Amino acid sequence: MENLDDVLNKASKCLNCKNPMCRKGCPIATNIPAFISKIKENNYLEAYNILQENNLMSEICSTVCPVERQCMGSCVRGIKGEPVQINYLERFINDWAKENNIKYEIKCKKSLNKKVAVIGAGPAGLACSIELKKAGADVTIFEKEDKCGGILEYGIPDFRLSKDTIKNLIDKVQALGVKIKTGVEFGKDIDIKSLRKEGYEYIFLGMGAENQTTYSLTKEQAHGVFKSDEFLKKYNIGKHIENLGVTVVIGGGNVAFDSARTALRMGAKEVYILYRRNEELMPARKIELKEAIEDGVKMVFQTKVIGANVVNGNINEIECIKTKIENEKAVDIEGSNYMMKVDTVIFAIGSKANEQLLNNSGIKTENGLVCVDENYMTNIDKVYAGGDLVESKSSVCRAIATGKKAAKSIVGE
Ligand code: SF4
Repeated sequence: MENLDDVLNKASKCLNCKNPMCRKGCPIATNIPAFISKIKENNYLEAYNILQENNLMSEICSTVCPVERQCMGSCVRGIKGEPVQINYLERFINDWAKENNIKYEIKCKKSLNKKVAVIGAGPAGLACSIELKKAGADVTIFEKEDKCGGILEYGIPDFRLSKDTIKNLIDKVQALGVKIKTGVEFGKDIDIKSLRKEGYEYIFLGMGAENQTTYSLTKEQAHGVFKSDEFLKKYNIGKHIENLGVTVVIGGGNVAFDSARTALRMGAKEVYILYRRNEELMPARKIELKEAIEDGVKMVFQTKVIGANVVNGNINEIECIKTKIENEKAVDIEGSNYMMKVDTVIFAIGSKANEQLLNNSGIKTENGLVCVDENYMTNIDKVYAGGDLVESKSSVCRAIATGKKAAKSIVGE
């Protein structure tokens, strides 16, 4: 538990602004000055209630959100100095509630005659389900994996987000009355037509961006090349990969850092992150960079991987080229190619929606994203989409925001 003087000192930095920019920076408009004011009054219970009322995933957001680009990045205190440590204070309140076994009492309205199918139990689907249930709708989540949580369960490793935290959240969602069916895949076991036949008037698609971006390094298939989502999933389900040897992660986002730190925990001999641009332009959070370096990950900036050699079916070395930055873009430096001996390559350069699957269902997509209106409704009436399906470079909190907004539109608020 944090030192209380430290907590109060950090809370005292908040100016309780009349027009709080921090709230504007938060995708779900958390009432930051209100909960911090309650901390200043030593009323932690009320601070907890304020956070939970707006977001049952508050604990998760305070741990994984890119706050530097959201609430803290917008705090007026940050203009001339240090912003208020909003995530630290939010985490403190959630830790306090856990230690004191405080349960937030969720209020649901009486039954609303709306039956909704939510596809995917990731942050967007869970947020949508919570809001719908609070409004009294009949909600069923269909999740293709065995466990709920999506990226929270299968993507973010447990050294960043504990499995207990995710389990507690799913327990809360079930306690609300949301029905959950796991092992059911959209496009295979169910589709829009079959759901409509079963009486689901509304459908929310929140299955995430399932097609991970890669590019070809070799003509032939090679062992030792992974996509970050499959790599992280293996770790998260306890199927560790052996003999990773020297491992290179290609990418510069938080997923690249999760993959690199996970590779070290799986026993990789050395782990490098190769990023095509420089540190300033890297999208990952600074804290991720700091913790990865502390773990022993080695950073190689302004370097692109353009090919590889395969020996006996295994990746053996990669061909790299150095880059220079022009207008924030990485430009190859001619003749700077070099080879690097590696055993494993992990791609962590983003992902896109499964457009084929969506188009087969009649859903319109563009550039790897589902086309939606301002309420996140797709081109099909009463079919909504959120999370990574509608935004590239999304975050947990942004995904929650899309789920909440779609739910409000479904219930007619
Ligand atoms: S912008 Fe900063 S100082 Fe103002 S209310 Fe938000 S956290 Fe407090």
